[in-house]
Amino acid sequence: MAKRDYYEVLGVDKAADEATIKKAYRKMALQFHPDKNPDNKEAEDKFKEASEAYEILSDKDKRQLYDQYGHAGIENQFGSGGFNWENFSHRGDLNDIFGEGFGGIFESLFGGGFGGRSQRSSNRGEDLQIELSLSLKEIAVGAEKTIKIGTKEACDKCSGSGSADGASESCSQCRGTGQIHQIRQSLFGQMQTVAECPSCRGEGKIIKNKCPKCYGEGRMGKVKEINVKVPAGVEEGQYIRLRGQGNIGPRGGTRGDILVLIHEKQDDVFEREDNNIILEYPISMSQAVLGDEIIVPTLTGSVKMKIPAGTQSGRLFRLKGQGIQGLNSYSRGDQIVRAIVVTPTKLSKEEIELFTQLKGHDHKRQMKPGKSFLSKLREYFS
Ligand SMILES: [Zn+2]
Ligand SMILES: [Zn+2]
Repeated sequence: MAKRDYYEVLGVDKAADEATIKKAYRKMALQFHPDKNPDNKEAEDKFKEASEAYEILSDKDKRQLYDQYGHAGIENQFGSGGFNWENFSHRGDLNDIFGEGFGGIFESLFGGGFGGRSQRSSNRGEDLQIELSLSLKEIAVGAEKTIKIGTKEACDKCSGSGSADGASESCSQCRGTGQIHQIRQSLFGQMQTVAECPSCRGEGKIIKNKCPKCYGEGRMGKVKEINVKVPAGVEEGQYIRLRGQGNIGPRGGTRGDILVLIHEKQDDVFEREDNNIILEYPISMSQAVLGDEIIVPTLTGSVKMKIPAGTQSGRLFRLKGQGIQGLNSYSRGDQIVRAIVVTPTKLSKEEIELFTQLKGHDHKRQMKPGKSFLSKLREYFS
């Protein structure tokens, strides 16, 4: 069937102005609105045709293309199946004409045009949540984990249909549409609202001979292994959403998601500060006084670090790029090493003699109070 001319559809002249076109569409929308013409396919088609024409002719640019090239000029404005309610950008106009609550009617008629929630949404499987504890070492570079999780999967006996013999009947209450229409009064006369059919829970089908294994549910509890890729730099309390890996919906429904809740394990030695890592590292008095080269652990191994002569206890050293890889970034945080001078205990006789000698030199030096560790740390991170 050849496509009708848009001007002809709306019954307006080719030179019609915007207001005339809107008026013509309004008239047709009121005339052919599906709720005023229940079960009238022709009225439904006319309403859709008029809406398509209005969509094009009410837009200056689209109208110009159409005037110049005809239907070929605006073909790519719509999806491969031609005009769909998703393409209709004048919902506001319709609300003006018919009042609020119009979207639901479109959905029932044309399969989820507005808002995208069609009747099948009730068949979506549940989202599942699992918790995943990661060490700082894993968080630093990212991790890949295999987790076992209990999910609902399609019943293997009935292949997810829920029916023992593969048969189902159309629901009599909603006549297979999955929706029931309730009539209410409005400014423009009787209006219908749409609700999910309680008898078939929106599925439109009733299974009489239920599968004995899943009792008609079409799904069974199973344990499966999932693979979780955790990017570096995640934090306590963050979620990773694995789309379409949750429970399958009943009777051939769609899948929910899995939400992986991240927990950060406390580390024995490392402490996290954003993407930086703090490590307290003990050094001996002689190392502090004379200087030394030490090997300190990092999140990914260990590195050599120079302790200069005369290092005070609490001094901070920065190991660039040895912290945590930032989430969605190319840079890595640093490792801050706090050198702590350890006072020796359980001294040998010889050591006591040496320290006694040293004590005799103490009066040559003056001791003064200094800045606290916290204020030094703040300076480091600022
Ligand atoms: Zn089954
Ligand atoms: Zn029903």
